[in-house]
Amino acid sequence: MTKALIIGGGIAGAVTAMALRRAGMTPVIHEAYATGADDIGAFLTIMRNGMNALEAVDAHQPVIDAGFPATNVEYLDGSGTRIHLNPMRSGARTLKRSALYRVLHDEVTRRGIPLHHGKRLASASIVDGRVHAEFDDGTSADGDLLVGADGIHSATRSIIDPSAPAPRFTGLTIAYGYTRTTSFPLSADAYRMISGSRAFFGYTTAPDGETWWFSRAPELDLATANRQSYVDLLADDDTPAAQIVRSTDDLFITNAYDVPETRLWHNDSMVLVGDAAHAASPAAGQGASMALEDSVILAQCLRDITPTPAAFERYTTIRRARVERLVAESAALGSGANRGAATPPKAEDRHWLYDHEIDWSEPVG
Ligand SMILES: Cc1cc2nc3c(=O)[nH]c(=O)nc-3n(C[C@H](O)[C@H](O)[C@H](O)COP(=O)(O)OP(=O)(O)OC[C@H]3O[C@@H](n4cnc5c(N)ncnc54)[C@H](O)[C@@H]3O)c2cc1C
Repeated sequence: MTKALIIGGGIAGAVTAMALRRAGMTPVIHEAYATGADDIGAFLTIMRNGMNALEAVDAHQPVIDAGFPATNVEYLDGSGTRIHLNPMRSGARTLKRSALYRVLHDEVTRRGIPLHHGKRLASASIVDGRVHAEFDDGTSADGDLLVGADGIHSATRSIIDPSAPAPRFTGLTIAYGYTRTTSFPLSADAYRMISGSRAFFGYTTAPDGETWWFSRAPELDLATANRQSYVDLLADDDTPAAQIVRSTDDLFITNAYDVPETRLWHNDSMVLVGDAAHAASPAAGQGASMALEDSVILAQCLRDITPTPAAFERYTTIRRARVERLVAESAALGSGANRGAATPPKAEDRHWLYDHEIDWSEPVG
């Protein structure tokens, strides 16, 4: 059986492993972090198209169970006036990133797929048609092919193309937080997006009453940015945003990068999926869903097409235009003066994004 070395045990790595197993291969995951790859506390929404990709490999139920539904998005301006209401495609689920990693890892383990922690890829080469990977703990592994699911700062991307450009700073400094103060309007099952005068703000309310929020601001100095920086940016608006931030104990603040174009997605035995191949700014909320689509379609190509380089090429052809369009749209969405869009995207303009369907039984050749 074809042995696939998967580099990275994040969203794309875990689901690629499940999809390759379903395609009859033997995947082995190598994850850099010593324990679970918990993130900085962010949360995300897996959109309908991402949930559809999970369903193609029967991995959707644990994500449904760990999350809660998002049914519509209400857009407000800085005066608190509703400017738009977008129903969301049914099926979207919101959950903390750490919860998503946990349920995907549990599912990988339940399916008997090996997941090795503490294995940071240092180098990889093709020897006699097989891949030899070396990790920075001094160990190595061999396989028939290697999938780089190692995220936005992918080592695999640089191995495939040493001249691949570094990720691009989007100009966004993003804060996340959680609060249980309920003196502002709840937003259960819905996102409320506020296009404030100086920063963009979004929030939703989990079933237990905790409010989950984020704010996108024009670049801030990470060394000094704190809760007060965001309160100051949001305080001029007549919305609950500043109050929500003020009531939050711990903020997670990070700069956002994207990868608009990757010239080489593969060589003869190594291929990229997810953020390693293309990373979108968080504005469109689609990075994880695109990674999930990649994972399943790559496995279908390897199932249906030989030799391996031809399967990789077909996968790239199917995926490239869609993901590059998404990265460009996401960059545009976060480029306004307040790091939001001048006008919210209309639901009818997003069919191409959300209505993407994968039929696992359909040949891709
Ligand atoms: C602030 C922020 C907010 C976001 N919000 C959303 C959202 O709401 N909705 C959405 O869909 N997307 C969102 N995204 C994007 C989303 O998180 C990514 O698109 C998604 O995580 C990509 O999955 P991935 O598996 O490709 O990469 P990752 O999830 O980053 O996983 C990569 C894995 O590879 C491991 N790794 C890295 N290097 C190595 C190595 N050398 N060797 C071995 N392992 C390695 C890492 O430890 C990690 O576990 C957001 C991103 C950010 C930064």
